[in-house]
Parts: sequence; C-alpha cells; structure tokens
Amino acid sequence: MIPLTLAEVADAVGGSMHDIPEPGTRVTGPVVIDSREVVPGALFAAFAGERVDGHDYAVGAVKDGAVAVLASRPVGVPAIVVDDVVAALGALARTVIARLGATTVALTGSAGKTSTKDLMAQLLERHAPTVWTPGSLNNEIGLPLTALRADESTQHLVLEMGARGIGHIRYLTELTPPRIGVVLNVGAAHIGEFGGRDQTAIAKGELVESLPAAEQGGVAVLNADDPLVRAMSSRTSARVVLFGEGADADVRGENVRLNDRGQALFTLRTPTGCAEVTLRLYGEHHVSNALAAAAVAGELGMPVEEIATALSAAGTLSHWRMEVTERPDGVTVVNDAYNANPDSMRAALRALAAMGRGRRTWAVLGEMAELGGESLTEHDAVGRLVVRLNVSKLVAVGGLEAAWLDMGAKNEGSWGEESVHVSDAETAIDLLRSALRPGDVVLVKASRSVGLERVALALLDGT
Ligand code: ATP
Ligand code: MG
Repeated sequence: MIPLTLAEVADAVGGSMHDIPEPGTRVTGPVVIDSREVVPGALFAAFAGERVDGHDYAVGAVKDGAVAVLASRPVGVPAIVVDDVVAALGALARTVIARLGATTVALTGSAGKTSTKDLMAQLLERHAPTVWTPGSLNNEIGLPLTALRADESTQHLVLEMGARGIGHIRYLTELTPPRIGVVLNVGAAHIGEFGGRDQTAIAKGELVESLPAAEQGGVAVLNADDPLVRAMSSRTSARVVLFGEGADADVRGENVRLNDRGQALFTLRTPTGCAEVTLRLYGEHHVSNALAAAAVAGELGMPVEEIATALSAAGTLSHWRMEVTERPDGVTVVNDAYNANPDSMRAALRALAAMGRGRRTWAVLGEMAELGGESLTEHDAVGRLVVRLNVSKLVAVGGLEAAWLDMGAKNEGSWGEESVHVSDAETAIDLLRSALRPGDVVLVKASRSVGLERVALALLDGT
C-alpha cells in the first residue's frame, strides 16, 4: 500500500482518532483483518463477527507492530473509530486507488471469474507490476483489501467482482472504479439467489454501466458467445471488445480442440495477428476464459505472440479447480471440488471424457447448490450427461440432489451398478479405495458447501 499518515486515513474514512499520540505516523504495511497477519507498519481492521470479535485482538495487533486499529469503538490502543468498518475499508481503497496511476480491470460472470483472473494476472505480470485478487476474495471486504495492496509501482490491478444481487456490483465499482470491465457469462450459477437468468444479467451488467465512456478510455470486454452478455453492449458507453469462438468476435479462438490430456488447443486471432495456444488448464471451458484474458492483455498493449506464450505457460493459482494429480500407481485424480454449477459440471465432465480416452473414468459428484426450482431438472440432466459421455462410473455423494444425479444416470441408459448413490464423503472414499485400479481417472466435483475435496485429498493422501 502507499504510505498514508493516520490523519490521512482518518480523513479518508471519515473516522475519529483515539489514543493516537502522533497523527503523522505512517501506515506502511498492509491492511489486514486477521491479527495473525499483522506485520510492523500494518493497519489492523477489527470486525465484530458472529463468533469472533476482532476488537478483542486489537491490543495484541498493536503489540505485534500494527500502527493503529480501524475499529467501531475505542479499544485502548491507537484507533481510528468509524461507524462501519467495512464501509471504511471501501472508502480507504477508493482514496488509495485515486492516487495511483494503475489501470483497474474488473471481471465478473457466473463461472470462471477466478480462473480468468488468475490467467489474466499471469499474462499482465509479465508485462508490468500487477496486483490481483487472491483466491476468490471478491466482495466488499476482499476487494478493498486487494486494492490496498497496490502501491506506486503497480501498473495493473486485476479485481474479481462477485455479484450477490442487484446493486452489489454497482457498489463494488464505486469503491474501485475500473477502466476495463469484463463479463464472462451469465450461467445458471446462483440462479436461486437472483431469481432467474435475466435478473443475473441485470446484476452483472452493472459492471459495464460503471465504465468510463470510450473517449475516456473505457473498454467493455464481453463474451460474444453468450447472448445475455453480448446484449450488455447496449448498456455501456465504453468501447466494446467481443471475445469468443464466433466469426464476429474481435478476439477469437479458432480450431478449438482437446488433446488427450483434456487440455484445449486453439488458434488465437486478434486484430493485430494470430498465434497458436495450448492451455495447461484442463477443459474446453478455459478457452473462453483465456480469450477474455487475451482481450484484456491486448488492450493493455501486449503483442499477440507474447499473449499466446504466456497463456500456454499459465497454470492454476487457486486451489481445487481442475487440479490434476497423478498417483504413483497411475490413478489420476482431478480435484475440481472448489465449486460447481450446471455449466461447470458439463465442462468438467467433458474434460474427464477427453482425459479418459481408453481409460476407466469415474465421476464423483455432489450437489450443485442454489438452483432453486431448477434443482431436480439440472441434477437429473447431469446424471444423464455422465452416461452420454461414456464415463465409466458415477458415484453420487450426499442427500436428495445426489439421488437425482443417480436417477438421471440410471434412467438415461441401461445403467445399474455403474451408478451408486452414497450418503457421505467417507463412504465414497471407502468405496473408491477398494475399487480404483491403476490407470483410472477420477473427477471430484460439487458445490463449495459440500466440501467434496475431502474425497480428492483422501485419495491423494500419501502421494
Ligand atoms: P466463485 O463464484 O465461486 O468465485 P468463479 O466464477 O470464480 O466462482 P472459478 O472458481 O474460476 O469460478 O471456477 C468455478 C468452477 O467453474 C470450476 O469448476 C471451473 O472449472 C468452472 N469454470 C471455469 N470457467 C468456466 C467457464 N467459462 N464456463 C463454465 N465453467 C467454468
Ligand atoms: Mg471466484
């Protein structure tokens, strides 16, 4: 972060200073919300959570070197007191960003935000100092914390924005106004929460509405292959750059195919030239993510050959997303248990099918959450797809939703014992441990709340 005095921080957040002997003291370190991460020069933001109250850790944080605490009440050590610590973090981020010369790129979408953000960061970092969202810290707390890590040397700030409902992205863009905004897709993710795809599109489109006009450098990077995203062109005065596989996309993926490891190959065609890309990430869905990242890198001046080289070298930065590990006995475990929705389930299953050519394949799947009234249909459809893709076995883990997966598979083909429904991860682990044979490929995937990574981790234990 850029060094700010405590007086400047107090001014930025509209707070009052308590027990601060020297308002000219500078915050030189990061802003942290976990007192265990305090380093000398840090600012510790104290939240009153349901179970833990950060204010209880204020004294310890200052002892460990924090110059002050951002708090909602005086705590007996140097503090800047505000009504709302979350809002104050946002205000502080806004002030810091306004002082920096960095280009802010924000991205949103139903699926692939973190994957795309990680790809983009790996591209841009080759070019100039880049700060990006760690993991999925994409809300009103994670976003300011990320932005506050930027300093004078930062050229690119890449921010993932998650939408919890109408108005949320608008609020986030007010904290860290982007010059480039990327919308990946409007899928079925979180559909129960939003009340339908159109509502989701309204919420995600707030990103492009916030962009500066084309004359001021605003750029909206939109997925040409997703009609609801494409339609967002009419909601922005920024210049529109389309990416996708269709003929009219500005940044295009042509001749897309999967190799026998499930990695996508394609020709990247941009207005300035074309180059061949082989992704290291697994699954065809990453082509779309890679094109979005390429479009942004192109806008920021990276030549197409450099983009292609960087894309072909980029790996996963965030855990449990199509993480492929080969066991010494030749069993391949694909841990995609970070999250799941119908689109990402289909993408992952297609990658499994490609990886499993000539090998026995297992889909170990659990619930896709937040699907509201579409839940039964979607789980049934995924169960059926497992059969249609010639996956060898389905292990459906969990309650009612898992039963629907299992039923879908059994109703699609003449499947009997190929599909089993087990109630919990432990049973699935026991079953797999005794049934797996060298050469098998196992995909593990479900929504975050299921915690199905336990299965993948157990299968990899000791490797
Ligand atoms: P979250 O909302 O949980 O932060 P996210 O949008 O950041 O999710 P990722 O974490 O990148 O998304 O990926 C989540 C799941 O979606 C993974 O299983 C991944 O394989 C899959 N996925 C990634 N990109 C796409 C895409 N373009 N289309 C469909 N599925 C995708
Ligand atoms: Mg994410």
